Amino acid sequence: MNFAGGSMNCEICGKKIRPPGYRIVVEGAEVRVCASCKKYGSEISIAKQAEVKRIVIKKKKPQTKVEFKEELVENFNLIIRAEREKRGWSQEQLAKKIQEKESLIKKIENAEITPDPKVVEKIEKLFGIKLRETVQEVKISRSSQAEVTLGDVVVVRKKG
Ligand SMILES: [Zn+2]
Repeated sequence: MNFAGGSMNCEICGKKIRPPGYRIVVEGAEVRVCASCKKYGSEISIAKQAEVKRIVIKKKKPQTKVEFKEELVENFNLIIRAEREKRGWSQEQLAKKIQEKESLIKKIENAEITPDPKVVEKIEKLFGIKLRETVQEVKISRSSQAEVTLGDVVVVRKKG
């Protein structure tokens, strides 16, 4: 193609285009097209980004990751119920004390939902108890997250 002449043709529709036109990738091949044909492919810059991402995933090596996180104790709902009943409060009274809805307390005590950290914190403060424990998680991930099976995740619980 002769670019010196300042004129070129769209490689899809053949229409004359003004340089530089648009460089797109159609089915793996790079073509130079007019403005109305660029929709038929992905523009070069975007295609390059996608390529880089794919390579990163392929190169990912098996790795061991240790994470520390605060996790709700398993019987948090029973603890909350026991603490509330010890004080002779109704669910409504407890809800008012932490400025939440009675329905939320009901769901928490029935273990229908996992309360968010903000709510947990309020309950911990109110009762002077701890509902969370520090959990150490060792994750061994292979080529991708999707391949991590239950057997690969080891949970070590620490007291206190
Ligand atoms: Zn065209």
